[in-house]
Amino acid sequence: MLSQTPTKVSQRSALRINPAKTCQPIGAMYAASGIHNCLPYSHGSQGCCSYHRSHLTRHFKEPFMAATSSFTEGASVFGGQPNLLQGLRTAFAAYDPDVIAVNTTCLSETIGDDIPQIIGEAESSGIIPEGKFVIHANTPSYDGSHVTGFSNMCVSMVKYFATRIEDSSEASAPQLNIVPGFVDPADMREIRRLAESVGFTVTMFPDTAGVLDAPQTGSFQMYPDGGVTVDELRNLGRGVKTLALGPFASAEAALQLDKIAGVPHEVLDLPVGIAATDRFIGALNALGAAIPDEITTQRGQLVDLMCDVQQHFYNKKVAIFGDPDHVLSLTEFCRDLGMIPVHILTGTPGKAFGRKATEILGDKADQTNIEGEQDLFLLHQLIKNQPVDLLVGTSYGKYIARAEDIPFVRFGWPILDRFGHALIPSLGYAGAIQLISKMSDALLDRRDRDSTEWQFELVL
Ligand code: SF4
Repeated sequence: MLSQTPTKVSQRSALRINPAKTCQPIGAMYAASGIHNCLPYSHGSQGCCSYHRSHLTRHFKEPFMAATSSFTEGASVFGGQPNLLQGLRTAFAAYDPDVIAVNTTCLSETIGDDIPQIIGEAESSGIIPEGKFVIHANTPSYDGSHVTGFSNMCVSMVKYFATRIEDSSEASAPQLNIVPGFVDPADMREIRRLAESVGFTVTMFPDTAGVLDAPQTGSFQMYPDGGVTVDELRNLGRGVKTLALGPFASAEAALQLDKIAGVPHEVLDLPVGIAATDRFIGALNALGAAIPDEITTQRGQLVDLMCDVQQHFYNKKVAIFGDPDHVLSLTEFCRDLGMIPVHILTGTPGKAFGRKATEILGDKADQTNIEGEQDLFLLHQLIKNQPVDLLVGTSYGKYIARAEDIPFVRFGWPILDRFGHALIPSLGYAGAIQLISKMSDALLDRRDRDSTEWQFELVL
């Protein structure tokens, strides 16, 4: 397995091998699926749309609906306006969504299609039915990653729908806006549960809970019941605050909402692990919400578990890779568990990753390989040079885990070769308990496997 990966690390400037990211449109499509009755729409060649749908389906094990402009060579030369106009006409007639959320691909970006102008043309020629909406995000694949695409579509939700609302007197409970980051439906549910349990009415955008974890009822529902509604998006201006969870995926939308509707915002780390969840709960508390006993108890259970398991985690070397918001918070959690993060890596560009990682690791930062905008080929080489006890990341890590015989925990997006992850939160105190359970299972299964017979203990 991966036998041609050399131990010697050489400088690469043009060759990328086994990327730790994918392209913008897939993130935009995932975000769009978190709008109620919305059809994600890919403006470009149909291959991109097909790949993105199948990749999302493979992670969630759910149907993922999306339409495409299906560019031909002609459209690639003369522009995709006729394709988009016809595509919108067909999509509204055949699939009747309330919203079509258009993203672009590298092809339509390279030829420079002017999407707002085409949407304007669709409006003036009656292609967009009364009471329906077309929004768009430019998502050039050669910039950023899928996380950037997610962020760009969240910004579009704000730009198309949010307005300044002076009178918020109708609200029975204060409204809190949350941008949850590129996380699973179960995580969005957990974030909502925490925020609602302290007395807020939550508008989460996007919200894929109920969309990509919808129940099997025996009949296919093109638009499941979940998702943030257009009315909720129009009322974002009523929020007392917007919390952006994860600076890479969520900060920009919260900032835009602040600018457009005057809703103050705060950027928090993705609440993975105890410290980041404490900061999230602290932010709720700072807004005047009393923290209920239920949450305090769950935190206490997590602390108890951290104490119970500490002898198995102490000084264990770990490598972590994936999306930057996930990796940074998990690095902090592993540090709090007494582990040593030896390699941390993301494929997504952005200098903030290195800065933030250094801040988290403090005086231990120089003992860690902190790699931004890098790939899994490099991660494998780093692990060959400095072996670890545990590897945590997306399904793509399984090849390194097998090649180097390392216990492996799947975490983040995508997870293509296991089941149930989209239904079980890895955020909040509940998610931290789940993560400890998975990581200790992996470490102790390895210990059992490698024990001699006389060391093979019943009680660990
Ligand atoms: S990189 Fe470009 S061509 Fe490839 S899937 Fe992404 S948008 Fe499509």
